[in-house]
Amino acid sequence: MLTKTKIYLSSPHMGGSEQKFVNQAFNTNWIAPLGPNVDGFENDIKSYLGGNNEVAVLSSGTAAIHLALQLLGVSKGDEVLCQSFTFSASANPILYQGASPVFIDSESDTWNMSPELLEIAIKDRIEKYKKPKAIIAVHLYGMPYKAKEINDIAERYGIPIVEDSAEALGSTYFNQACGTLSDIGILSFNGNKIITTSGGGALITKNSELKNKAVFLSTQARDNAPHYEHSSIGFNYRMSNVLAGIGRGQMEVVNDRVEGRRRNYNYYKTNLSKFNTIEFLDEPKGFFSNRWITCIKTTSYELRENIRLELQQDDIESRPLWKPMHMQPIFKDCLSYTDGTSEKLFNTGLCLPSGSNLTQDDLDRVLSIITKTPNL
Ligand SMILES: *Cc1c(COP(=O)(O)O)cnc(C)c1O
Repeated sequence: MLTKTKIYLSSPHMGGSEQKFVNQAFNTNWIAPLGPNVDGFENDIKSYLGGNNEVAVLSSGTAAIHLALQLLGVSKGDEVLCQSFTFSASANPILYQGASPVFIDSESDTWNMSPELLEIAIKDRIEKYKKPKAIIAVHLYGMPYKAKEINDIAERYGIPIVEDSAEALGSTYFNQACGTLSDIGILSFNGNKIITTSGGGALITKNSELKNKAVFLSTQARDNAPHYEHSSIGFNYRMSNVLAGIGRGQMEVVNDRVEGRRRNYNYYKTNLSKFNTIEFLDEPKGFFSNRWITCIKTTSYELRENIRLELQQDDIESRPLWKPMHMQPIFKDCLSYTDGTSEKLFNTGLCLPSGSNLTQDDLDRVLSIITKTPNL
C-alpha cells in the first residue's frame, strides 16, 4: 500500500550551509554562548534589517520579550497593554515581571492591535490612575500591524512599544523592516518560524546602550570585577555559538524562504478564492507580509472544523487561528478591551500548511482535500 507522508503546518527548511558553520564552531572549540558565529549572526541580521539597528541574539523570542520588559523597567504592579490575538509567549513575560497584562483586541484590516481600542484603553487606564508602562504589539502571521497609528498613539501618551516580530522576519512596512519600527523589536528562530536555529531569538534596538545592557543581563549580569560581582538580576539568555551557526546558514536563504511562503499564499488564494465561503487577508497598501502562515477565514465554526477534520484524515496538519489571550484560562482575571474581532477569527479561521519546503504535489494534495469538504 502506498502510504502518504504527513504534511506539517510549518517545518524547518535548511539551506545547506548551516552545518559548515556548526562544524567551524566544533573545529575551533567555540561551544559557548559567545564566539564568531554569535557575532556573525548578529551582523547578518543587522545588514538584513537595514538602517541603524543593534542586534543581540538570545536563547528564544520569549527571552527577548522578557529582557525588553526588564529594560523598560516593567516591574511588579505595572500594567502592560498587549495584543490579545497572539501566541501566549507575547504575554507570559508580563507575568514573569509580576506585572499585569491588559489585552487589546484586533482590527479587521491586519488582524493586529486595533489603534482605536488601544487609545480607548490608554485613556481609561490613565483616568483610573494606572498609566500603562509599555505596549506589546504583534505582527501576527507576518502581517505588519498599523505601525504609524500605533506609534502616534504611543508617542502621544509617552508609552514605549515592544514590537513582537517573532513571526515577521522578512516583512516590511512602507519598505522598513518589521522588528525595527518601534523602541525595541524582537525576533524568534524557533523551529516553526520562517528561519530557525532550532531555538533562539533576538532583541533589536537603535540604542547601543540598550543593546549592551541586554547582552549584560542575558549573560548573568556580571559586574566588572575579577570575581563574580552582581548588582542586578541576571538571566541566562544568550544564544549558543553552535546554534548561531545554524542561523548564519539560514540567513543566506532568508529571501528564498519569504518567496516560498508567499508562493504558498498565492497558490491557496488563486485556487480557493472562487469559494465565497473562504476569505483571505490581503495586504493593505505599503504592507508587505512574509506570509509566514497562510490563514483563511471561513463563514462558520462548523465549516472551519469540517475543513480541519478532512485535512486531518489525510494526515495534513492545520490549526485554528490563535485563541485570543483574553479567552485563555491563565489570563481570565486580566482586563481587556475587546469588540469580538479576534474571537470571531478564532472561531472561524484556519492556518494552512505553509512551510517553504512544501512541494507542488504537497500543495495540490492540500487543495484537493480542502475542495472535497462538504458545503464548501
Ligand atoms: C514564536 C513566538 C514567540 C516566542 O518565540 P520563541 O522563540 O518560541 O520563544 C513570541 N511571540 C509570537 C507571536 C510567536 O509566534
